[in-house]
Amino acid sequence: MSCGALAREIVLEATIDGGRAPRMFRLLRCPQCGLVMTSPCLGRLELEEFYRPEYWGRVSADDPGWIRRDQAPRTSFLERFRQGGRILDVGCGLGLFLLALDPARWDRYGIEVMPAAYREAQRRLGAERIITEDLSDLTPGAPFDVITFWDVLEHVPDPAASLRQAARLLKPGGLLLVRAPNFASYLARRYGADWYALSLPYHLFHFTPATLTGMLEAAGFKVRAVGNPAGAENYHAFKHTMLNRLTRLHGPRGGRWRYYFVKPALRAWEYVSTRRGGGSSFEVCAERL
Ligand SMILES: [Zn+2]
Repeated sequence: MSCGALAREIVLEATIDGGRAPRMFRLLRCPQCGLVMTSPCLGRLELEEFYRPEYWGRVSADDPGWIRRDQAPRTSFLERFRQGGRILDVGCGLGLFLLALDPARWDRYGIEVMPAAYREAQRRLGAERIITEDLSDLTPGAPFDVITFWDVLEHVPDPAASLRQAARLLKPGGLLLVRAPNFASYLARRYGADWYALSLPYHLFHFTPATLTGMLEAAGFKVRAVGNPAGAENYHAFKHTMLNRLTRLHGPRGGRWRYYFVKPALRAWEYVSTRRGGGSSFEVCAERL
């Protein structure tokens, strides 16, 4: 899709029990650029059946302290590079990341296509700040200093096009921050179809630091930093991956029993494997040239 090569190599096959009936999905790798994609690639309407309200996560709705703590991995990565300006969060969900930013320093905007989340984000941040149109239809009055894609790029049907749109909407020297599951991580390589962040069929693409860097460079960016965050979200991915593997091998009861047996070792296991083999997600800061 992104480099134009037609051949594909099958990396993994998984049957997903969701929607109306179990369905088989394949992960295909482009031998030219290395990008991995989900096949078949479901459209937005088909996927909407899979998204349940709880997809948006646990929300302590109006507690600003909770929102700041919940979003700290993202806000601290951002503020390593910029401390203020005009910012657009693509796929802003309920708007929690934007709400965690100091409004005195940040002029905050968001895009969200899912209707329920979009309305909630509008209620929290103001109707004029949250839009529901496509990135390619957006013509803002002024370019942005920062655009963020937190766990979003793997969901869009043409990520290379989204990055080109982001380049169009940024000032020269503006920053693009991307966080995505790391298909080259220890968990992805070791646990394959049981890897929690594989999230089939929602994740249409499966990036690695190398494939995302290639796509960013082709869209007119220079990568300034690649981060490998550990911490709560990584541990969460770790726990669910183990639970997936053990319940698949031993059934729901046997799997759970074994999970509680290995659980005391998981923190240390997560710490060591993340430092040696990469965490479940990675984050990139790129500058528009
Ligand atoms: Zn390719």
